[in-house]
Amino acid sequence: MTATTFIDPAPPGAETRPKACLVGMTRAALAERLDDLGVPERQRRMRVSQLWGWTYVRGATDFELMTDIAKELRGELAAHFTLARPEIVTEQVSVDGTRKWLLRLADGKEVETVYIPEEDRGTLCISSQVGCTLNCTFCHTGTQRLVRNLSTSEIVGQIMLARDRIGDWPGAVPPDPTGLPSGERKITNVVLMGMGEPLYNFDNVRDACAIVADGDGLSISRRRLTLSTSGIVPEIPRWGEEAGTMLAISLHAVRDELRDELVPINKKWPIAELLDACRAYPGLANAKRITFEYVMLKGVNDSIADAKALVKLLAKIPAKINLIPFNPWPGAPYECSDWEQIEKFAEVVNRAGYASPVRSPRGRDIMAACGQLKSTSLKQRASERLAASV
Ligand code: SAH
Ligand code: SF4
Repeated sequence: MTATTFIDPAPPGAETRPKACLVGMTRAALAERLDDLGVPERQRRMRVSQLWGWTYVRGATDFELMTDIAKELRGELAAHFTLARPEIVTEQVSVDGTRKWLLRLADGKEVETVYIPEEDRGTLCISSQVGCTLNCTFCHTGTQRLVRNLSTSEIVGQIMLARDRIGDWPGAVPPDPTGLPSGERKITNVVLMGMGEPLYNFDNVRDACAIVADGDGLSISRRRLTLSTSGIVPEIPRWGEEAGTMLAISLHAVRDELRDELVPINKKWPIAELLDACRAYPGLANAKRITFEYVMLKGVNDSIADAKALVKLLAKIPAKINLIPFNPWPGAPYECSDWEQIEKFAEVVNRAGYASPVRSPRGRDIMAACGQLKSTSLKQRASERLAASV
């Protein structure tokens, strides 16, 4: 059974003036704000580090809990700042423990965040934009028009909210423990594979990743943080230098003619240029391999010849290959390859030395799988509300 919970928004008028959100604020920006509040310079570093500790290590949502900060300053902080998360519209828990949250941002726009628990790890898939300007033909997010980039606060806020909901703070108890990993930390990996092209929101995504990777921040190392891109070639070296996370490339085709169709940004930056940027990715090594994502589309890119061409193409790059069964969405112009064909394809890839487990689709029952995000949320909400009201 799939469980969906609707969470009521705060009552209108509860907040009278906009406060700055501490979540996602860089140390420098926070120090500046504290200066505005009259916190003396000699105290600022300590205050910044106390606030970071409460925010990112303990997950505090209330300044009153910050007992090592004087009461008067706590009041000042509460008057000027918030620790609010994005508002949850719905929370769905799949039969396999996958969770999907539909979130409403301050301006009413919506994005989705997905959590995929496994036995020994938990991966959070976060969004970087509302919608996407690119039009990959197999991706449902791409059929929506871009509304806007997410702010650093909205990007980091997705992780904070997920940690709230799965009880991933010290001493917290998860409200619903279905399928959670057994280890102490429930979110061990973060992937920028939700809605949007993260390299088109470079600065905010970079600043968010800095907070996520910071040992005094969310403390998820850059080795466990992966940015997936459709191939915005000029930004790849800069990303490596300024953010240095793991990299995933949405390849999906081995010939420009087909990739032009599936991932139209290929017309601007074709496969050869994309792979050159990969070869030059800072820190690339066997221990820090690039993941190449390849969606399996029946009769389109799934032949044995394609598989052979794929391993040849990636031959000199330290790479992992992720074969992703196509996740259908209403009106999609493709079908998922037959399982037998996926296995044959995977065999060629495996024989070439890639341990490439076929990524089994997770959370399909709640439309939480890759490329299904934001697909039927509006319709679903309406019908579920109706169902709930009868
Ligand atoms: N825009 C970025 C990141 C978000 S998409 C990118 O394109 O890489 C995350 C991954 O999901 C990409 O590899 C994308 O190609 C894949 N994807 C999109 N739609 C899909 C679908 N319907 N089925 C399977 N994978 C899909
Ligand atoms: Fe955008 Fe990625 Fe979807 Fe392409 S696959 S439309 S780049 S979100």
